[in-house]
Amino acid sequence: MKIASVIVDVPSMAIDHVFDYRIPDRYKDSLEEGMRVIIPFGPRKVMGFVIEIKTNTEVKELKEIDEVLDYTPVLTQELLQLGTWIANRTLSFQITSLQVMLPQILKAKYKKELWLLAEEEELSETLQILFAGRVMVTFEEIEERNIPYIKIRTAIKDGLAEVRYVVKSKETRKKMTWAEPVDAFQLEEGFMETSNQAKKQKAIIGFFLENPEPILLKQLLTKLHTTRSTVQSLVSRGLIRLYEKEVYRDPYENRNFERTEPLPLTEEQAKAIKPIHQTMDHHEHEVFLLHGVTGSGKTEIYLQSIQNALDKGQEAIVLVPEISLTPQMVQRFKGRFGSDVAVMHSGLSAGEKFDEWRKVQRKEVRVVVGARSAIFAPFENLGIIIIDEEHENSYKQDDTPRYHARDIAIFRGEYHHCPVILGSATPTLESFARAKKGVYHLLTLSKRMNNQSMPEVEIVDMRDELHQGNRSMFSFPLQERIRERLERKEQIVLLLNRRGYSTFVICRDCGTTIQCPHCDISLTYHRKQERLKCHYCSYEIPMPQVCPECGSDSIRYFGTGTQKVEESLQQTFPEAGIIRMDVDTTRRKGSHEKLLNQFRERKADILLGTQMIAKGLDFSNVTLVGVLAADSMLHIPDFRSAEKTFQLLTQVSGRAGRHELPGEVVVQSYTPDHYSIELASQYQFEPFFQYEMKMRKRFKYPPYYFLALVTISHPNHAYAVQVTQKIVKSLHEMSMNRTQIMGPTPSPITRIKNRYRYQCMIKYKNEPNLYENMKKIIQQYEKEIQTKDLQISVDFQPTQMM
Ligand code: ADP
Ligand code: ZN
Ligand code: ZN
Repeated sequence: MKIASVIVDVPSMAIDHVFDYRIPDRYKDSLEEGMRVIIPFGPRKVMGFVIEIKTNTEVKELKEIDEVLDYTPVLTQELLQLGTWIANRTLSFQITSLQVMLPQILKAKYKKELWLLAEEEELSETLQILFAGRVMVTFEEIEERNIPYIKIRTAIKDGLAEVRYVVKSKETRKKMTWAEPVDAFQLEEGFMETSNQAKKQKAIIGFFLENPEPILLKQLLTKLHTTRSTVQSLVSRGLIRLYEKEVYRDPYENRNFERTEPLPLTEEQAKAIKPIHQTMDHHEHEVFLLHGVTGSGKTEIYLQSIQNALDKGQEAIVLVPEISLTPQMVQRFKGRFGSDVAVMHSGLSAGEKFDEWRKVQRKEVRVVVGARSAIFAPFENLGIIIIDEEHENSYKQDDTPRYHARDIAIFRGEYHHCPVILGSATPTLESFARAKKGVYHLLTLSKRMNNQSMPEVEIVDMRDELHQGNRSMFSFPLQERIRERLERKEQIVLLLNRRGYSTFVICRDCGTTIQCPHCDISLTYHRKQERLKCHYCSYEIPMPQVCPECGSDSIRYFGTGTQKVEESLQQTFPEAGIIRMDVDTTRRKGSHEKLLNQFRERKADILLGTQMIAKGLDFSNVTLVGVLAADSMLHIPDFRSAEKTFQLLTQVSGRAGRHELPGEVVVQSYTPDHYSIELASQYQFEPFFQYEMKMRKRFKYPPYYFLALVTISHPNHAYAVQVTQKIVKSLHEMSMNRTQIMGPTPSPITRIKNRYRYQCMIKYKNEPNLYENMKKIIQQYEKEIQTKDLQISVDFQPTQMM
């Protein structure tokens, strides 16, 4: 007897283990590990993943697998192992960890269709009878007719037919109805059989005989002056098929990418690439940290390392932050590797994402460029994994399973014995510290190409501006420089960093912000209670009326929207053309790219935007970058705020003077002498690293300590507090001496969607049982979680402290 161990799609702690099912004879030879099945589970039928096939089991009364959904495994052995690893490391359900690796479409409800790819005569007799002149049959029909599974599988293996999925999605994207003939031969027959009285029907058939391509139903109706019901009658006769398709075009599809050739490397580049190639030649795993300023030629190193993998018959994954997946970036990979490249980003529809994924699965491409989830590309012969801008927050998934793409990359790199390259101009402290310790191999590119220098940065003290009577958002030096650029017809990028606004208070007279004495982070302003609270520990004070440093009453919370800044900017410079880019103006699909193109075509002088403009943009005519409030990032209640500020300022400075025209940067700040602002303006990464490491050590933060953030939420305020208190108590009892359990404290955003949120933070050096202990604690609340709407989430190594 053959038995399958299955992880079932029921996300619950009690069910988070494998269940055994008997494999019915019809699937006996074809079912493989990594395939999805439908199985009976209690009164329901659910989906599950087969993770093992074996011959015996302890279970007495075995149920039987109902249906097998796949003809080839959707998960490889490696990814099955990875699933278990993710589940253990992030305390998430096995099923969630497996599903996160697959395209959405394989999770959604869908209809399966079998499409004929060859001439009918090539099929086995059973299938010839099944298709009976049609090009497509639904699986419902296949089931009804009891067609043996193996017959279909053979036809698919021989390339005679393929499975297509039609998603019944709840997506709100705009869809249009298309019409197409089902089959040319039938159409001709249909034409003969249609009486001349049915003029309209005949006209439609005639039209399709001449134009067999799909056409928008709307167009067809207007073209032939006919009605939907006439078309419908042809549909019921099986001559025409209607289907819905999203109105969306693959942004890269119709573009011709100019082919590029590998550039002769500079001495620095050659030195950096050598050890990468060596590990590849020796088929070894190693993590490289490629630290190079923007424009130092990192991408060329990626490209040539990938080429090396391809030459060995291997594959490559490149992760870039979602926001950098601009055509500019994609072009560099498509330009070098052409149709060998699949691109995965969130702008694709579910169907298109699935298509890209399938190209990988079918080995039609060898390179994947994509955002975070592309790390799960089902390659089986990986030769290199690259993570560009490794410091980006978006590599951490902020929903379960809370994995970091870097950890997944290293898991896969070890599995495939291949190198992982982490690249950045401003690596995370964690990575740089590991590189310094020799855990990662540090590679440095210190020079920009053509030895261009980084643009000059001027820091403007906004307190002085206030004292000089300038109450506007634009300092005099910035105004002057903007005016110069407008006269010279050069362009300007203005960054208004909105994150963290209105959560902290600042004295506009002296720049003081109020910090927690224990945690070195800004206190969060809670408007309702008029109090300032630390959300790491439990420290809190009433909101002061005057500045504790200078006594000024200009102490208030911070915050201006981009729209207000735009108005004020337009008032100051009535002649300037302004493009505003923020979540509001980029909500519509493609608007992001459209606005950038307008700016590139010089249809505006100033691009004003939130952090989405900080990265990857490359405009030759931009000679001035202004940062309106460097402080807003500095005071988000997060121990990484200095690091984030340093990264952002470095990134945004890199936007100016990338070509012939020299660039200049103006940074406005109320705390101009803060080390992160000062050192970023001088491009001093190492000194920043050294200083920040000292702070981290003093306040017991990563990379010296590990963190876990436990968040508890519930509609009832008192209940949320009470559960958090109990959890803190249990953690105290279970933990090692040197571990600190902090809290309970309200989360920085204490109420979201009518749920109260409380948290506790664990700082630990060595806590071997933490995962298990945490699991035990959550198990104690299993009933409340299932029935009382309680939520407990644990984020190990959080990147987002909000
Ligand atoms: P980074 O990825 O570090 O920002 P890039 O790889 O984009 O840097 O390189 C910056 C510019 O220098 C690009 O226009 C690139 O084409 C060019 N470049 C890179 N390497 C070389 C080289 N070896 N010779 C000439 N130009 C190069
Ligand atoms: Zn003050
Ligand atoms: Zn504190």
